[in-house]
Amino acid sequence: MNFPEVILCKYGEVVLKGANRQSFETSLIKELRRRASPYGIFKIYCKQSIVYVEPQDELCDMEGMYDAAKKVFGFVGVTRAAVCEKTMESILDTARRYLPDKLYGVRTFKVDAKRSDKRFPLTSPQISAEVGGVILSTVRGIKVDVKNPEVTVTVEVRDEHAYVRAGQEPGAGGLPLRSAGRGLLLLSGGIDSPVAGCMMAKRGMEIEALHFESFPYTSERAREKVMTLAQEMCEFCSRIHVHVISLTHIQEVLRDNCEEDYFTILLRMFMMRLAERCAREYKCHALITGESLGQVASQTLAAIEVTDSAVNMPVFRPCIGLDKNEIVIAARKYGTFDTSILPFEDCCTVFTPRHPKTQPRLEDVMAELSKVDMEALIDEAYATMTTETKLVYPEYR
Ligand code: ATP
Ligand code: MG
Repeated sequence: MNFPEVILCKYGEVVLKGANRQSFETSLIKELRRRASPYGIFKIYCKQSIVYVEPQDELCDMEGMYDAAKKVFGFVGVTRAAVCEKTMESILDTARRYLPDKLYGVRTFKVDAKRSDKRFPLTSPQISAEVGGVILSTVRGIKVDVKNPEVTVTVEVRDEHAYVRAGQEPGAGGLPLRSAGRGLLLLSGGIDSPVAGCMMAKRGMEIEALHFESFPYTSERAREKVMTLAQEMCEFCSRIHVHVISLTHIQEVLRDNCEEDYFTILLRMFMMRLAERCAREYKCHALITGESLGQVASQTLAAIEVTDSAVNMPVFRPCIGLDKNEIVIAARKYGTFDTSILPFEDCCTVFTPRHPKTQPRLEDVMAELSKVDMEALIDEAYATMTTETKLVYPEYR
């Protein structure tokens, strides 16, 4: 039993974009087209605030394309629908054959019919009543509940065809990727920073990543873990260039010259400065971190104030107001959680002070910093930078 099926992607905030709407729509369609290539040949176009993804032959992997569409930022709802002729006979026949599978085990439903073609001979309530009748007679045990249905069946009579579908799944939300400039994510191997990156990608940022390692204090496997995380983030972020800088020498110099209690905050200032330099080179206009207020010593308000003073660029911390369990829920949603909890060391856990300063004062930190040649250390560390590119799948460009 084969139905011509399409995927309908409904966009959210993009509809509010007034004069810019066209460019937002174009980005959405472009991204869907790039995402479609491993799943076959699809015709992808936009009409009346919906993007249609139409398979062009039998070989198309609808399941794969459907999953991919749910990960494209900018859509609030994604659904599969059967396509049929614009006659009541064809609509009822499609409902009879297509819906029972979709409504298996469902207890209550309602039908919502929409006609954008007003010449269609039946009114919306008449279409709903007829399709409702077909469902009641073909799906065992199901009842109508117009107020609080488990599933809403939608019949849409549009310009060229009619579409029949059951329910709708949430899309990834947000705004189209790359519609909001580029940000540099400080990516560690933890739970928070991958989530922070995905959250900013959701608001339309293209994500570039920077990881600091401290070889041989951190291992090759710790770096591999971060590369795996970046690869997993590509399910939502599509493409990420991952830069890696070695902090080993900076950490040794700080250990040998500065007071232990200031070690963490000093290291963070170096990280921010290096990140800013990388951001400027790669045309990123914000830094992104996974910090959450009060989570650890370096994330108190006083510590954040000091680290921010090291850079002249917006620093986005989308997790700042989230509790750990909320970040974990997001990490599961973005598919990074299982990798994040693998037990590998991070450069921040190398030479950790016993009593890190939680209320550092900028003057004291600057006094400690003056004991080392910050600029020379930054130049030297920056020269160690290497870059790898991660793509959602090899053909993505
Ligand atoms: P997570 O790494 O998940 O944030 P965490 O709370 O242990 O866990 P911290 O060590 O407190 O992270 O660091 C706070 C933020 O600093 C991270 O979210 C990340 O943005 C950045 N950061 C920490 N370590 C590194 C690193 N090795 N490379 C790049 N960025 C890092
Ligand atoms: Mg954290």
